[in-house]
Amino acid sequence: MVFDVVKDRLAVWRDRREVARQRLEAADEFTWVWSDTVNPCSHEFGADLTCRETNTLATLFRLFHHWNTANQLQKEHERGPNCNNAEPHPEIVEEDQ
Ligand SMILES: [Zn+2]
Repeated sequence: MVFDVVKDRLAVWRDRREVARQRLEAADEFTWVWSDTVNPCSHEFGADLTCRETNTLATLFRLFHHWNTANQLQKEHERGPNCNNAEPHPEIVEEDQ
């Protein structure tokens, strides 16, 4: 009885861990898909991002080491009409530095 409860908890924990793993994998694949298809011009693909959205996406790309994609996205946004400095953008660090 007690053992079953522990087993159930373990199953739930393992399940959560599996979901977390799948989310990470999906996020990783998303960054690859974006880097391959949307690069080099996000505007051509209708991306119309706010400062916060840009930072969120750029952070994701940097975490998965798509440095050029992150930098390009941020540069395009900062040059575009949607950047109103609602949220500050981090300094761009180029990959080869
Ligand atoms: Zn902005």
